Amino acid sequence: MAETILLVEDEMRIARWTQTYIEKAGYGCIWASNGKDALHMARREQPDLIVLDLMLPEIDGWTVCEHLREESDVPIIMLTAKVSEQDVIQGLRLGADDYVKKPFSTDELIASIEATLRRANGKAGPDNRLVVGNLTLDLHTRQCFLRDQAIG
Ligand code: CA
Repeated sequence: MAETILLVEDEMRIARWTQTYIEKAGYGCIWASNGKDALHMARREQPDLIVLDLMLPEIDGWTVCEHLREESDVPIIMLTAKVSEQDVIQGLRLGADDYVKKPFSTDELIASIEATLRRANGKAGPDNRLVVGNLTLDLHTRQCFLRDQAIG
């Protein structure tokens, strides 16, 4: 069965085309337009991955991310219009698995979804590398890299 993506985005125009592309890529896609619905749908539908916009009405994306992490390990990709490194780090600290900067290309988002699902399923990429946040493990050489710097 196709994996289900929960898309959390309040701007309907963006949500519509994003949903279309996610479905074209072969995934199921359900949509929540605010943080409150996102939490309900995450509990009810148990999606395989969540694409989470940060700027949402009622409950913002940071808070949604925090609540989600209290109850599950579902992979989360943040969509952020904010560009500061601090915002990205905060999101990753709250438990997000990856982030995509807005405006994003659909190819970029789909690539992130594929990579994040692969990591979540514990499978290495075609180059035999496991990537978790800033850490990369080369399964061939057994070398570990932090931000592309070898650390062991
Ligand atoms: Ca938004």
